[in-house]
Amino acid sequence: MKIVVLDGYTLNPGDISWDGFKALGEFKVYDRTHDNELLDFIGDADVVITNKIPITRATLDAKPNIKYIGVLATGYNVVDVAAAKEKGIPVTNIPTYGTTAVSQYVFALLLEICHHVAHHAKTVAEGRWAKSDIDFCYWDYPLIELAGKTMGIIGFGRIGQAVGRIAEAFGMNVLAFDEYQNKSLETGKIKYASLEDALSKSDVISLHVPLFDSTKGMINRDSISKMKKGVIIINTSRGPLVVEKDMVEALESGQVYHYGTDVVSAEPITSDNPLPRAKNCFVTPHIAWAPKEARVRLMDIAVENLAQFKKGSPVNVVNK
Ligand code: NAD
Repeated sequence: MKIVVLDGYTLNPGDISWDGFKALGEFKVYDRTHDNELLDFIGDADVVITNKIPITRATLDAKPNIKYIGVLATGYNVVDVAAAKEKGIPVTNIPTYGTTAVSQYVFALLLEICHHVAHHAKTVAEGRWAKSDIDFCYWDYPLIELAGKTMGIIGFGRIGQAVGRIAEAFGMNVLAFDEYQNKSLETGKIKYASLEDALSKSDVISLHVPLFDSTKGMINRDSISKMKKGVIIINTSRGPLVVEKDMVEALESGQVYHYGTDVVSAEPITSDNPLPRAKNCFVTPHIAWAPKEARVRLMDIAVENLAQFKKGSPVNVVNK
């Protein structure tokens, strides 16, 4: 079996091991693959492993040797899964590795918005506190307590549920929206709600639906207008869930108090993306998934997915 990894660097910049894949076949890893290198790098490999390099129908047409596509991520929107299915090629993803890391990161963004720790520490380091007259403290932004506030969770799957449990521990009430409901997940503080209620009754909205045609652009001028004025929105799922120009407008008007996002419409971000310079907006470079602990889990699951395919009993197939 010939295995090629197209963009291995973000998963493994050198601090974890590819040995699991090496034990399964002839193995080649590229740190990055540019468009003009794609067909050459795939070569005659049977197994293509991608993190964010798109695998389109045209690529599958050009490379009939491909028998398996492994996505090194939970979100698998980079692969034309329908085209792969037509050709009998299983596409696998990594469903669970990032649940704890991403749910923790939601609160890294949210707590930064509530307290602006980085800003206040920076101003102290710059000497401002030492120059204070008599006040024993200062703050430059509203400081926000989460207890008693309501969090709307859009997409109550693995990560959404983990976020809900942390929100509950902070004393928040949770309104969870999902197209499938599992009532046994409800608690005193966590309740399922319609999308309308989750959007209109929440102080904080956290996005956890995958990117599908049905979810693309779901946070737009119209849906934002139904939210509470001054809502905080957190996005650790996918950038295109949000219409970014509508978000900028809502941040400017104060309809949205703050947007904290780890993902944007095109990644890496383009220099003309207005979000990093928009009012009250934090953008981080898609790092929620990336603590080493989570990357090791991801690698182990990716290897196990391929091992199971090799045995003839594929798991984590997203295009059955
Ligand atoms: P999951 O499949 O467990 O949960 C997704 C939930 O969304 C499911 O419960 C599903 O029923 C629901 N859903 C799907 N379409 C819906 C719709 N139209 N309306 C309402 N609900 C809908 O996935 P997960 O593990 O919780 O991951 C969620 C997303 O997080 C991934 O798809 C990925 O895009 C993103 N993610 C981001 C990072 C990061 O580093 N920022 C890391 C991992 C995952």
